[in-house]
Amino acid sequence: MFASLSLTTFLQRAFVFFLLAVSTSLSQADLIIEFDFVPRETGDSVLSAENQAIFNDAGDFWEAVLTGYQDGDSRTVTVNAVGFDEGAMNGGITLGTAGPTGITSFRVGPERFTITTEGIARFNVNPAAISGSGGDDGLLDPLVIRHELGHILGFGTLWNVGFNNLYDEGSGVYTGENGLAAYQNEFDPNATFVPIELDGGDGTANGHLNEVRDNFAVENMTGPDSDPGDDAPAPTVLLGPNAGRSLDDALLSGVLSDDAFLTDTTLGIFQDLGFTTVDFRAVAVAIPEPNSAVLFVLLVGTALSRRCRS
Ligand SMILES: [Zn+2]
Repeated sequence: MFASLSLTTFLQRAFVFFLLAVSTSLSQADLIIEFDFVPRETGDSVLSAENQAIFNDAGDFWEAVLTGYQDGDSRTVTVNAVGFDEGAMNGGITLGTAGPTGITSFRVGPERFTITTEGIARFNVNPAAISGSGGDDGLLDPLVIRHELGHILGFGTLWNVGFNNLYDEGSGVYTGENGLAAYQNEFDPNATFVPIELDGGDGTANGHLNEVRDNFAVENMTGPDSDPGDDAPAPTVLLGPNAGRSLDDALLSGVLSDDAFLTDTTLGIFQDLGFTTVDFRAVAVAIPEPNSAVLFVLLVGTALSRRCRS
């Protein structure tokens, strides 16, 4: 009798905990990414349904990892995503452009953040461009779209805009607190900054994590490289599920390679931009996720209800 009473008390407490857990997740602020696929400029075209789906998938990706904003408000970022058709000119071909077109700011205590409210993504659907960034099937490369959406949300585009003071143009030295802490944990405990790409010209330099080996074959020139000129490989992830992976394969490096994995450093940089994010993967092995506690409570509850019925 006493034993069953204490079990009931435990379950009541557990149930209260479970309700708290549910209400916390319900009241959490959200980032909502909406796409407007209607052409606005001369020459713009409506993307195919398949390419629109690729944009929606990329939006789902960022909504899943950027869990909201640090002031607790939910916000919608609207992205005008369209195609255009342009062949090669002057020996090169334009693949597309993407970035924020509207910004706003918010405050958390003494800290202020400048964030994206609207963005544009224009992609060249000319077969010559598609085969350069995707395949021959007329589909845009999902990893390219994911990467560009990162820029629209502020990565490399809002580091030094409005109230954000995270990076000095041309320095190669990113000093935002959360990005640096993540980089130290993930790649280099002795780092005093996150190295930022200085090669590749406009659109690549000053907006990406620093490539070491696979960027235009001009890397390891003078720059923020850990060891400029020594032809050493890029830093690798020190621990967690991505351990051993090269920074050159990161989603937000200047040249996409491999499966373009999401680094903790990128999550930290988005925290510096005012977002809340999922946990860093390189520490997830040491810190149990709260979801497992909720799961445990649910399992106990299920066991009790089965006993009551029998
Ligand atoms: Zn980029």
